Amino acid sequence: MAETGTLHDAFIDELRDAYDGEKQLTKALPKLAKAASSPELRDAFESHLEETRGQIERLDQVFEQLDEKPRGKHCDGIAGIIEEGKSIMEEEFDDATMDACLIAAGQRAEHYEIAAYGTLMAWARAMGHDEVADLLEETLNEEKAADEKLTTLAEGGINQQASESAHGDEDEEEEPAMATASAGRGAAKRAPAKRARR
Ligand code: ZN
Ligand code: FE
Ligand code: FE
Repeated sequence: MAETGTLHDAFIDELRDAYDGEKQLTKALPKLAKAASSPELRDAFESHLEETRGQIERLDQVFEQLDEKPRGKHCDGIAGIIEEGKSIMEEEFDDATMDACLIAAGQRAEHYEIAAYGTLMAWARAMGHDEVADLLEETLNEEKAADEKLTTLAEGGINQQASESAHGDEDEEEEPAMATASAGRGAAKRAPAKRARR
């Protein structure tokens, strides 16, 4: 580090970070797919795995166009997100709850990638690396679509299904709550407090 680093140096560094992040994700996505119960969710993870392989090839092209060796540099951010995903998979959850949590983990990864590629694309454009910027934009759009797909699955039934067992036995108390309300003041006072937590 004899000389002051330039934006181009920082750019190459961030590209290596992204390259490593994608490689980590090609190992993590099959685990997410395997842990998913919803067939649509499994498909979403599997098809994003295929896309991720294409994104690695796209980065190979980017390095080539910039006359740089395709090399990764350990991405701590994605490693941390994957680590959290692993802890989720070790939890005891019912199927729908696990699916909701897997979506949460997946979306953390997608948002991280959207941030990374958004910056990379903007830097490439600013420096006049237009062809590289176009390649990065293609990947950025895939990450955004993957994120939106997960939102669609969460909001299209998985969250609702998971929420049905969200409060355990309390849900079954819903109706008798009216009956116990007339049994005494104590019960009547406690019932609304329970509802307030929802
Ligand atoms: Zn440059
Ligand atoms: Fe990616
Ligand atoms: Fe992604």
